[in-house]
Amino acid sequence: MKRIKTLILVFALVLFNSCSEGKKDTMSNSEPQAVSNKFLNRVEPPNWWVGFNNPELQLLVHEPGIGKAEVEVSYPGVELKDAHKARSLNYLFIDLEINSNARAGKFDLVFKFESGEEKVHTYELKEREQAAADFIGFNSSDAIFLITPDRFANSDPSNDSFEDLKQVGIDRTHDYKRHGGDIKGVIDHLDYIDELGYTAIWPCPLLINDMPQGSYHGYAITDLYRIDPRFGQLNDYLELSEQLRGRGMKLIMDQVANHCGLEHWWMKDLPFDDWVNNQKRYEENKDNWNWENTKFSNHRRTTNQDLYASEIDKQGMTDGWFVDAMPDLNQRNPFMAKYLIQNSIWWIETAKLGGIRQDTYPYPDKDFMSEWAGSIMNEYPNFNIVGEEWSYNPLLIAYWQKGANNKDGYDSNLRSTMDFAMQRKVVEAINEEESWDKGLVKIYEGLANDFIYPSPRDIMVFPDNHDMSRIHTQLNEDFVNTKMALATFATLPRTLQMYYGTEILMNDTAKPGDHGLIRTDFPGGWEGDLVNAFTGKGLTKDQKEMQQFMKAVLNFRKSSEAIHNGQTIHFAPENGTYVLARIIDAETVVLILNKNEQPVTLDLNRFAEIGLKGKSLKNIISGESFSWGEEIRFEGRGVTLLTTNLD
Ligand code: CA
Repeated sequence: MKRIKTLILVFALVLFNSCSEGKKDTMSNSEPQAVSNKFLNRVEPPNWWVGFNNPELQLLVHEPGIGKAEVEVSYPGVELKDAHKARSLNYLFIDLEINSNARAGKFDLVFKFESGEEKVHTYELKEREQAAADFIGFNSSDAIFLITPDRFANSDPSNDSFEDLKQVGIDRTHDYKRHGGDIKGVIDHLDYIDELGYTAIWPCPLLINDMPQGSYHGYAITDLYRIDPRFGQLNDYLELSEQLRGRGMKLIMDQVANHCGLEHWWMKDLPFDDWVNNQKRYEENKDNWNWENTKFSNHRRTTNQDLYASEIDKQGMTDGWFVDAMPDLNQRNPFMAKYLIQNSIWWIETAKLGGIRQDTYPYPDKDFMSEWAGSIMNEYPNFNIVGEEWSYNPLLIAYWQKGANNKDGYDSNLRSTMDFAMQRKVVEAINEEESWDKGLVKIYEGLANDFIYPSPRDIMVFPDNHDMSRIHTQLNEDFVNTKMALATFATLPRTLQMYYGTEILMNDTAKPGDHGLIRTDFPGGWEGDLVNAFTGKGLTKDQKEMQQFMKAVLNFRKSSEAIHNGQTIHFAPENGTYVLARIIDAETVVLILNKNEQPVTLDLNRFAEIGLKGKSLKNIISGESFSWGEEIRFEGRGVTLLTTNLD
């Protein structure tokens, strides 16, 4: 084997030691151990691969006093380029270059201390198991099932609680405590999800939230490389991914680049002065850190696009903390930036992901976000990422989509963003009484905004999500209106996402908008549940009918090329009716919304340009056939979904 020159870097011993002063931090003050450790406390990413486009790899090493060590690496094809000390001497950041001739295998990182002591950590470069081009991200052919994992199904009661975690126990009577749901609960019910017609799953974050409160939701991550043991182990996550792929379904990982949980391990020993934003304020008050002394984000998300935004507003938006329990990560620190990018790639490669959903997209440094998304897409050309921009303004949503013609030249590298705007338009369209500028015209004019999107079909639309009132509540628990809305979302030129339990009319009507209630336990997910939506036991007639309705719509959508990629033609609403067609060579799909309670007849001659005259169509919901002639009659309010595909 060809021997590659080994680089040895030598560092000055102690430049400064500001971290440990005045703080009770045993790690910072401890002397190097006399006995070698085979494995260090923490080396991240825990492994890497050969064969990436980007040869660079930066390891974060966290180990008492490791900043005082010199590091040596000897492995063919791997070059030690640099090693960086941090403010805390318990860190070392090591730059490696993995050349194209490097082979998969293990090698030692050897850390030498002045005392003569050595510590060794064996690091592994793995072979890539799947071609880069085969990481296919979700797209407009997908219907994505969003799950709050703590609330879906508890298949493993033995992992409900751990004494060594900060929030102990489960309490299903409490909306904000843990309920015990887990990854195995999702795996065990993949048949149900698959049969409903979903093609992808987006679970809210499954990484550990070792937080004293509210750990169930997943957005206060305390270790970016560890699955929360209350959800399962890494193997369970990989099993979920494998089983999904076996069904031709995709696993979308919910990631958070903006913030971490206050109990994140690095918060006790921050590597640099600027690892998190407003760090000085935090460090000065950390023993009494609370809501009052937190510098919050101003949540003025428009500062990202605003040509006139002041610096103080921009900074207030990106550098403030989301909440006091979630430190705001500083992605302008280049080590943090690399850490986050590599973390995302590590998960894509490890779990063979079918996409990432990135939380709170406008909150991190936007240039970093472009670099983050670009770095991922550079390795996985067919991958997909959706960013959460909670805005009802299509201009702001469009700004974040790759290819947008932005005045400031910004390109996000992001294929998908979330369509809060259209979500609201559909709800208004159905709830409002019809008039010139109210009711169904909201859908008509909402879709007219699509000219601003580089790619409308890559934008993700949804009736609701884990942060919003459930669609059935938004529609005042009107059964027919809920059907109308769901069929509309499924037919729009968009990528589709729906929340678990929509199919059984789950609602938060008792306390509209209450997060804990929105994330109600899925009935049947817990042993002893009186109602079981998986089997149908105890469901009401309406719930069963809605399950069948969604099954029909989503399974149809799964194979409808017209919905995935067809052109869209729609007609201005008239007399409380709205017609939208999706057309591709071999198939035309027609959605008709009718808000009239009394029988009404629609003259089909107005729709001649969609070319259906004399053709046979199938009603997707009833299965009945329909011949497109002069008119169509509706007996009452409702939705009709027709296709020319008679198979
Ligand atoms: Ca459990």
